[in-house]
Amino acid sequence: MNQFRADLERAPRQVTGYVAGSFVPTGSTGIDVIDPATGRIVAILNESTPDDVDRAVGAARKAFETGAWRSSSVAERQTALMAIHDAILENVDELAALETINTGLPLKQTRTIHITRAAQNFRFFSEFINQDGGDVYTQEKGYMSLVTYDPIGVCALIGPWNMPLGLTAMKIAGALAFGNTCVVKPSEITPLTLARLFQIIDERGILPEGVLNLVNGRGQVTGDAISSHPDIDMISFTGGTETGARILKALAPGIKGGAMELGGKSASIVFADADIERALDGVMLGSFMNNGQMCLAGSRLFVERKVADPFIEQFVARTRALRIGDPLLEATEIGPMINQAQMDRVMRYVDSGSGEGAQLLAGGRRHGESNDGLYIEPTIMQAPSNSLAICQEEIFAPFATLQIFDDEEDVIARANDSAFGLVGYVWSQNLERAMRSAARLRTGTVMVNSPIMRDLRTGFGGVKQSGLGREGAKGSRAMFTEMKSTIIALEAPALPRMGIAD
Ligand code: NAD
Repeated sequence: MNQFRADLERAPRQVTGYVAGSFVPTGSTGIDVIDPATGRIVAILNESTPDDVDRAVGAARKAFETGAWRSSSVAERQTALMAIHDAILENVDELAALETINTGLPLKQTRTIHITRAAQNFRFFSEFINQDGGDVYTQEKGYMSLVTYDPIGVCALIGPWNMPLGLTAMKIAGALAFGNTCVVKPSEITPLTLARLFQIIDERGILPEGVLNLVNGRGQVTGDAISSHPDIDMISFTGGTETGARILKALAPGIKGGAMELGGKSASIVFADADIERALDGVMLGSFMNNGQMCLAGSRLFVERKVADPFIEQFVARTRALRIGDPLLEATEIGPMINQAQMDRVMRYVDSGSGEGAQLLAGGRRHGESNDGLYIEPTIMQAPSNSLAICQEEIFAPFATLQIFDDEEDVIARANDSAFGLVGYVWSQNLERAMRSAARLRTGTVMVNSPIMRDLRTGFGGVKQSGLGREGAKGSRAMFTEMKSTIIALEAPALPRMGIAD
């Protein structure tokens, strides 16, 4: 793996867009793509201009209106989706290494979770469309009503930097499965695995020309050009809440929809009657997996006072023992922060927490002596109230806040006291308490005695400022199709005869 990294440093990859079945020549503004573990350049990203975006949307439009994809059979789409699934798994080692070098996520996690899940998305949607159907209603005498789902058209799919291949693959698989064509824009910070996937799909000739197009670049250049483009039909977006609001504003004049997977500040509630060892395992994963840079992190922790002392003691000890370092090493549990801006943000939150009366229980400092790599010590701050900025704002780092509570009513109120509503975690062995709490949490998903789990048959998404729409089986269908009703007269029932006197 180190050889792979050295090769990228010696000869950084040139990453370009892909439009109408061809890679765009290099030459536009180049953006350095950095390995956050070393601070070195591993690729140059050629930024797509508004003209490039226009060509990509044009190619997708042409493929949608005149190409074969939209009217292809379910079996044909299944074959293509499974070919992409197989292609990802056959290249899992390279894609995992590339993801780790670009994001700083530990290799152990990119190989076993992120890349394999990216592949599973294609398998899932290939199976889903095989079983999926519409509805038929026959209640009205002499009439039959059909509900079918038409592809929505040209889908713009915009992804974040934190899990680039896995999250955007879910969008690509869903959009393609329902017969759409796509313009994909990965984050300008972590574009490498998606660009490599496009190469692999191109080499194998899996999709017809123009069905899948790639553009690259910064939000204010390439992103804005996509969201304001008059010829896209929808945007499926995963990223920050402010960006989501900006995109919705750009879509409003065209009365177009956007599916928004946005930020989170998820509460994790540990009741005294929980299986404490298991809750600790779950809380560690919820706070520190993926370097803590997860929308669904359960890093706003509430612990019932009766078990607070032993729980905190173990939580702090395990947090201090986390293995921080080069994400390519098998033993590493916490890799580097994505960039200096994110590192500085985390440090500002440590200061703001201290300034507002929170107590630093672990971390809060840069890790190691070396200036290479943006490592921080996983951090826990105990907060006197839920109103502190560290409890209200998404930090997106290995940074957990901890509050102590005495009763169920109070903790549910505090958990819901948030602008976000992505996930809630409940740890309790009392079934009634767990179910009651799950019902009262205002979030799109609740995990009961469970760390982060994914089931594509269910919908994933947020309430309040965490988003609009759901990704997953029927949620993705709602996102990527237009429901159509067709009403048919079966027996030519008699009609009132307007314009003819009785
Ligand atoms: P971001 O909003 O800065 O960027 C996301 C993407 O939007 C990037 O590709 C960026 O280039 C693009 N973009 C920026 N401005 C744009 C514009 N005006 N028009 C169109 N595109 C634009 O987010 P990020 O920092 O990459 O990702 C982190 C955020 O994503 C966090 O808030 C996290 O919670 C959220 N996230 C949410 C989920 C979820 O499923 N809810 C999953 C992962 C990440």
